[in-house]
Amino acid sequence: PVDRTPKIQEARLQLPILAEEQVVMEAIKHNPVVVVCGETGSGKTTQVPQFLYEAGYASGNGIIGITEPRRVAAISMSQRVATEMNLSHRVVSYQIRYEGNTTEDTKIKFMTDGVLLKEVQRDFLLSKYKVIIIDEAHERSVYTDILIGLLSRIVPLREKKGQPMKLIIMSATLRVEDFIANKRLFPNPPPVVQVDARQFPVIVHFNKRTPLDDYAGETFRKVSKIHRMLPPGGILVFLTGQAEVHSMCRRLRRAFPYRPNSNIQEVDAASHDSVEATRKFKKAKPKPNLPKINLDNYSAMPADEGDEDREAGVDDEDEIASDLDLDLGDGDDCEEVEKSDPSIPLYVLPLFSLLAAEKQVKVFRPPPNGTRLCVIATNVAETSLTIPNIKYVVDCGKVKKRFYDKVTGVSSFKITWIAQASANQRAGRAGRTEPGHCYRLYSSAVFADFEKFSAAEITRRPVDDLVLQMKDLNIEKVINFPFPTSPSRESLIAAEKLLISLGALEEPPKHGRFKELEQAKLTCLITPLGRAMASFPVAPRYAKMLALSKQHDCMPYAIIIVSAMTVRELFEQIDRPAVNDEETEKLRRKKARISQMQWIWAGQGPSLKLGDIMVMLGAVGASEYVGCTPEFCRANGLRHKAMVEIRRLRSQLTNVDEPVFIHPNSVLFKHLPEFVVYQEIVETSKMYMKGLTVIEAEWIPLLLPQYSHFGKPLDTPPPRYCPETGWVKCHQKSTFFRVGWQLPAVEVDYPEGLDRYKYFAKFLLEGAVIKKLGPYASCLLS
Ligand code: ADP
Ligand code: MG
Repeated sequence: PVDRTPKIQEARLQLPILAEEQVVMEAIKHNPVVVVCGETGSGKTTQVPQFLYEAGYASGNGIIGITEPRRVAAISMSQRVATEMNLSHRVVSYQIRYEGNTTEDTKIKFMTDGVLLKEVQRDFLLSKYKVIIIDEAHERSVYTDILIGLLSRIVPLREKKGQPMKLIIMSATLRVEDFIANKRLFPNPPPVVQVDARQFPVIVHFNKRTPLDDYAGETFRKVSKIHRMLPPGGILVFLTGQAEVHSMCRRLRRAFPYRPNSNIQEVDAASHDSVEATRKFKKAKPKPNLPKINLDNYSAMPADEGDEDREAGVDDEDEIASDLDLDLGDGDDCEEVEKSDPSIPLYVLPLFSLLAAEKQVKVFRPPPNGTRLCVIATNVAETSLTIPNIKYVVDCGKVKKRFYDKVTGVSSFKITWIAQASANQRAGRAGRTEPGHCYRLYSSAVFADFEKFSAAEITRRPVDDLVLQMKDLNIEKVINFPFPTSPSRESLIAAEKLLISLGALEEPPKHGRFKELEQAKLTCLITPLGRAMASFPVAPRYAKMLALSKQHDCMPYAIIIVSAMTVRELFEQIDRPAVNDEETEKLRRKKARISQMQWIWAGQGPSLKLGDIMVMLGAVGASEYVGCTPEFCRANGLRHKAMVEIRRLRSQLTNVDEPVFIHPNSVLFKHLPEFVVYQEIVETSKMYMKGLTVIEAEWIPLLLPQYSHFGKPLDTPPPRYCPETGWVKCHQKSTFFRVGWQLPAVEVDYPEGLDRYKYFAKFLLEGAVIKKLGPYASCLLS
């Protein structure tokens, strides 16, 4: 039984899906696969897991899994569902690539689709799940598509084994024929349950003319106009990227400043009456010089690896640069309309995928009394999150997407027109609680030229990483895989070619009949190297570097390089000067070059030949040495956010093994030492280490002299060129020993001065595995 608060219960009853609970649950009961369609905001994501839980699908040792294409949705939805059900996050949990809070008590698990794909690799039948919900299937993200293909096979296998599993595919649009009309995918088409959303009419206004470039300026003017002239009601603005969102927030806040400690107070939804409040507020003029609330103070969230937020919100330096330009521009050609008007405050909030969850939830709360809510969002607001009380939508008609050049493989982010289906989704956001208006900043003629639907991601990108993952799952004939939408034959062949040249797949035979050769090209078997590569969560090229580096004893360096290259843009851009003539531009470039050169020792010899890679190594090494502090990064022209991301990816790559836990029978169970040596791993409900001994970090150089330069803190801060190896020493004390692979057994004379305990530890070390305990270990202790 679930014990919800009356307030939550009341809010739930408002959701259209509640009326359909029985229909949904009946369909699930009688069918292994069900498709649920419902408008954004109808309650699919938050309610369906609760229905299942209450119907007993998580009883016994089964759990309910929900995948999200976006990391932020996995986190925020798990929190929301936990709150609604009055359960702790130990029971309603999430897992994303870098982190999670799942426990052995977890019953409802939200995760990114990439996480579930990894789980399929470990346990093809996904035995611990009784139900898998694939959410936001209409987005057609690559991992979602692959998962649906895999699950179409897993579900009947589970049935055969007598441990049936349910698959629920949820979509915000009715365009689901790729899932139901694809006989290869589901020979028996799954039923579709449609949830009717209470949608109020939305009047769509097209611009007469379409602005050529300055859609940001046009957006600003439109929002200002709505705010000045139209009745109360929230405004939702769609822009393309994070920097654009920030910039628009600043511009609007400057134009319509909201000062929280004037007469306006934040109020509850219950006592909130915006018309009345606006009127009251207009009488009480706020004092002009009150301090401005700082809403720009966002915490650094890592730009993602690509398992979420693939399209929008990728925050690269170019974007930041254009943001700066825009800011400068504001000062110069300040139009009439941009003069500050504090008499009609606007409560402006940003919303994008990488925004910290606690900042995101702000949009769900009613705005302070006497203000109008204005949310500036990227594509996230199109379907994954629903913002209450939006009456006006301003749609710039653009989206930022990643494009790949089919020939060169070069990828770039481009801003393009959205599809008609997206435009209609965006417009729909205005009619959730009352009739609304959508302002499209483009003409109806331009709209008519939009493509009807956006293509599935899998048809738009190279698929070498996917092909490798599938081969690792022993799917040899990738071409026969039941994709909802198949990638083109050419891109599959291109992927196999690349993987063959990397040594991940076996060479196809060179002689034979043409037809057989053609066929063989698409059925190459995976090599042992390929298997090793598939275990790393990075692009196949980088995975090969990692797999090879182990043989040459330079894995820690390779890990740094791969992390740095995956994160990209380590260096702060030197601000562009206000006047941008050729001279100052030259100076700027020179400054930037000097700031990078400092990471290369003396600018000559092997370290210079290593070039930009050396710069990365030096920079990461130095920053890690001082603990990756913002001060150090600022002083040395490094982008702190990038350095934090690199650290995360690095520690993830270093811990590629599964997390292991101290066995409860061990005397060390409740002690949580920093380093341990273990003799054996047994897998029961978890991977448990047995036969444990504590190792102090300082002993490591003593015990294993050949690793001493990893274990010892360096006396002088890097970057320093190390003459013996030609590398920069760039290790923090503990870095190396977080690596979970087997250390080679060593023959050494035991150094003088080892006491018996250390001697014994040394003995254990040989052939054992050194493991730094990950964050997971603490779960066992709480
Ligand atoms: P769907 O998945 O069908 O788009 P959701 O289940 O995500 O719908 O949302 C249902 C309702 O729950 C929406 O009206 C939304 O406003 C509300 N909601 C979701 N998350 C929160 C939250 N963190 N705080 C308050 N309301 C929320
Ligand atoms: Mg949803």
